[in-house]
Amino acid sequence: MHKKLKPFEEPIFVTKPLLPDLNDILNKLKEVWNAQLLTNNGTQHRILEEKLKHFLGVPAISLFNNGTTALMVACKSLGITGDVITTPFTFAATPHILTWNTLNPVFCDIDPLTMNIDPNKIESMITPQTTAILAVHVFGTPCDVYKIQEIANQYKLKIIYDAAHAFNLKINGENIGNFGDITMFSFHATKLFHTAEGGALTYRDKSLTTRINLMKNFGIKNEEEVILPGINGKMNEIQAVLGLVVLEMIEEERRKREQIRTLYWERLNEIEGISLLPEIPGVQSSLQYFPIRINKEIFGISRDDLYEELKTFNIFTRKYFYPLCSDFPCYRNLPSASPHNLPNSQQVVNEVLVLPFYGGLGLEKASSICEIIKSIKESKF
Ligand SMILES: *Cc1c(COP(=O)(O)O)cnc(C)c1O
Repeated sequence: MHKKLKPFEEPIFVTKPLLPDLNDILNKLKEVWNAQLLTNNGTQHRILEEKLKHFLGVPAISLFNNGTTALMVACKSLGITGDVITTPFTFAATPHILTWNTLNPVFCDIDPLTMNIDPNKIESMITPQTTAILAVHVFGTPCDVYKIQEIANQYKLKIIYDAAHAFNLKINGENIGNFGDITMFSFHATKLFHTAEGGALTYRDKSLTTRINLMKNFGIKNEEEVILPGINGKMNEIQAVLGLVVLEMIEEERRKREQIRTLYWERLNEIEGISLLPEIPGVQSSLQYFPIRINKEIFGISRDDLYEELKTFNIFTRKYFYPLCSDFPCYRNLPSASPHNLPNSQQVVNEVLVLPFYGGLGLEKASSICEIIKSIKESKF
């Protein structure tokens, strides 16, 4: 017997942007208005850059107007050419920035458990044209950074990490922005830390700073000299103000998400046919997403059916990252995009469902979501 559960009165989405008290923003905006400088490395930008450098535990950082421009500049600044090995199980921005750099994405299959690029399959994708690996810490699970570094060393490849989901992620106490050549963070409104739109690059080689900062400002060195074909990647003062105030809220938001994660773990782990992300020893989670995987045979209905059923309860989950990037019309004719090359990606993309996950959700609603998922399963038997 399953009791009839009621739908939520208001729609519930996977996330809600962290919104500070408006007065806190207005107070800081006054400083910007007084300074009468709205962008171009203003005071707020410089303060945020310094604070994030410490917060992320990295030797060097450069802020951007969004994560996608940041990734584009990352490729350019490292002089990457030809083919770049990447994952098909990611947000569209990842392969698209390669195309915008006239680079060729080469899709490598993912590890079925971590859902990240499978380091054991990277080597077979390397050709004389390969110059770099663009890997993604999907859902905040770290890639096998040590193995990927070994491969890169052996074949003299550059490594760029898309850490859009990985703000505050740590491996054995080491901050995620300290691996590879350059790491990109996105500060889009859907990310835990955000500036409405925004992003950053972090890197250990401080000598990259001048080049990266020139590239995000049209290549302008001074009033008399423009020394390379740059782009406009600058974060403005209003974004920086938002970031400074949101940064103060991160700790509390993480505490709330931690509680919801624990509740989801306890309540969903016991449901047959649902599997959760593996807990990796020594990893501090970014608490960005809470994905589950549905095994249709055991759970009783498919991921897609659960997704539709949840909508009738006013719960709007997301099928990230469906469709696979390798199935986009612009990429599906690439040899590496063939489904035969990507069996794990093809399976995972049909099983993953991302649940509502943000501090403001609260334990009560999170608990109801678990009940509803359980009741949907039971109603199918
Ligand atoms: C959000 C996201 C991006 C893009 O970031 P923007 O700041 O929105 O440009 C890139 N990659 C992944 C995996 C993302 O989730």
